[in-house]
Amino acid sequence: MAEKNLVVANWKCNGGAELVDSYLKAFLALEGTDVVVCPPVIFLTQLQALLRKNVSLGAQDLSTFEVGPYTGDISSEMILECGGTWTLIGHSERRALHQEGQAEILQKLQAANRVGLKTILCVGETLDHRRSGSAEEAVLSQLDILIEANDSTLFDNLTIAYEPIWAIGTGQTASPSDAQSMHARIREKILSLSDALGDNLRILYGGSVSADNCGSFLNEDDIDGVLVGGSCLNVSEFEKIVRICGAC
Ligand code: PEP
Repeated sequence: MAEKNLVVANWKCNGGAELVDSYLKAFLALEGTDVVVCPPVIFLTQLQALLRKNVSLGAQDLSTFEVGPYTGDISSEMILECGGTWTLIGHSERRALHQEGQAEILQKLQAANRVGLKTILCVGETLDHRRSGSAEEAVLSQLDILIEANDSTLFDNLTIAYEPIWAIGTGQTASPSDAQSMHARIREKILSLSDALGDNLRILYGGSVSADNCGSFLNEDDIDGVLVGGSCLNVSEFEKIVRICGAC
């Protein structure tokens, strides 16, 4: 497991000049944490000053294509050119609202990996899965693409984010112990491929993380950071989360 906790801000389709400005004025990175900010890609260039404060930048998605007639797509190279070194992949909102399936998600992981972008693969279960006792099966099956790809280089830059779908943007969270047991199962699955891959893998928790609750997740053995949606839209709340994560 990594020494530093990783804290990731996912602005989703939010923000504008005011939020950009408040992030530029904030001092976000602290010893003991790695911080990544994923705004809408249109703001990446303006946020590049954050790189000097040891904050990394990322995209929320990327194209499977490298270049060509793909209207609206943003390629991995373009993200790099704008200062982004990370990308989220397979967020549940993309899976549900844009019908992204496993094959496309794998292509995105491969597209990012080709240029050395760091990837955060999001996985999670629905409330129905949780209620019917099939949450683990649902989450672990989303990792099958990593095994089917049969390419250990995909793990070089990989982080996994466990985000129960019913906890995203709802104010409800998994209990830290339920999250821990899912993280342990995720790690176990990757350990079955290789000890080194499993040991070095960072696994984030996401789903209504706030300054009030983030510490309780980070006290768990297999939780190596947090993916923050709503709470990162208030920069002082996000800074609090970063501070707490730095102290855990
Ligand atoms: C997310 O966007 O990945 C997320 C976890 O959102 P929220 O923190 O708002 O639940």
